[in-house]
Amino acid sequence: MGYDQLKIPKATARRLPLYYRYIQNLYNSGKQRVSSAELSEAVKVDSATIRRDFSYFGALGKKGYGYNVQYLLNFFRKALNQDELTKVALVGVGNLGTALLNYNFTKGNNTKIVAAFDTNEEKIGKKIGEVVVRSVDDLEEVLEEEGIEVVILTVPAHAAQVVTDRLVKANVKGILNFTPTRISVPPTVRVHHIDLAVELQSFVYFINNFSPEEDLTDEDEEESTQDVLVTNSSE
Ligand code: ATP
Repeated sequence: MGYDQLKIPKATARRLPLYYRYIQNLYNSGKQRVSSAELSEAVKVDSATIRRDFSYFGALGKKGYGYNVQYLLNFFRKALNQDELTKVALVGVGNLGTALLNYNFTKGNNTKIVAAFDTNEEKIGKKIGEVVVRSVDDLEEVLEEEGIEVVILTVPAHAAQVVTDRLVKANVKGILNFTPTRISVPPTVRVHHIDLAVELQSFVYFINNFSPEEDLTDEDEEESTQDVLVTNSSE
């Protein structure tokens, strides 16, 4: 079954990269099959949810056998577009931007930051990781030249909307917004918002108010703890 024909619920789609990473490790270590119980233990998603998710992928586990690792790996590669390199740009090479540039996203992942932009003259021309920082004046030109449609936004809050408007005009399809600003985009552009400060605060709240066991017994809870980090602010 092709990925295009599948209608996967969003909560399931969000868990795809998590499954993919673990299945890749299994494959690399030579394992040919895996049970939903093993998967559940490794990715911390309850096994009923795993079985339901995997049924959407056309992967039907057999009793006493589990799931075929090669099948799952092929499926996830296709679904996550891992056969093609997705080029990504980053705008705002501050502390967080620099960390993301240094972080090797390509380890077992076909998504790569290939361009970075800043306004600060002292940063322009510097090489961070494998990427040379360019002036934000060149933004539109480079995005077009490189065919980049996905952008990570790590500028200060006050610059977020201005940069976003330029990105929208340059026809980007998605913005991963690390700024605390709830940016506005047309419905054709997808925004995922990652606010690490809010995430840390909510994490501490959960630690102080709920026991981890409560999460595991809540079968109806669609959002696993791993899902909380990414919220789609364009919905
Ligand atoms: P630093 O200590 O390096 O300033 P920071 O993460 O605390 O890091 P921020 O004020 O959040 O700094 O800014 C992040 C980066 O975004 C800085 O490098 C800044 O020069 C850059 N920046 C600010 N405005 C823009 C803009 N309009 N376009 C692109 N980059 C910008």
